[in-house]
Amino acid sequence: MLYTCPHCGAINRIPDDKQQLQAQCGRCKDELFSGKPVDLTDADFERFISKNEMPVLVDYWADWCGPCKMMAPIFKEVCGELQHHIRFAKVDTEQAQMTSARYGIRSIPTLILFYQGREIDRLAGALPAPQLKQWIGQAIQKIS
Ligand SMILES: [Zn+2]
Repeated sequence: MLYTCPHCGAINRIPDDKQQLQAQCGRCKDELFSGKPVDLTDADFERFISKNEMPVLVDYWADWCGPCKMMAPIFKEVCGELQHHIRFAKVDTEQAQMTSARYGIRSIPTLILFYQGREIDRLAGALPAPQLKQWIGQAIQKIS
């Protein structure tokens, strides 16, 4: 499986078994599964969503947005649970304006599930963790 390092961006090939729990990046030696969403910018967004073999769930947020702040710990919690199946990433819409415009982000928080660079599904608004996991489960099934 190809997996982009959240720290240095290097693409790692890791075996598809339990060893991946302790997998380290071949370049920077940092842990690949940190349990935290990766912060993406305009510079690394496209590479990250297209070079991962796992689906990537992106949370578009902004510092001034109350519901985004409610969503942040929920997103992180679900990331910790599902990080071996889905990559979790965050885009600060104030910083990454090109990326936010390209995907037509009109309200935040917006979540978009990508698979090999393609948008699979999106969700606008914050959800509690159980509902978020339910939505992810349904969105994943649209990947064919
Ligand atoms: Zn690395």
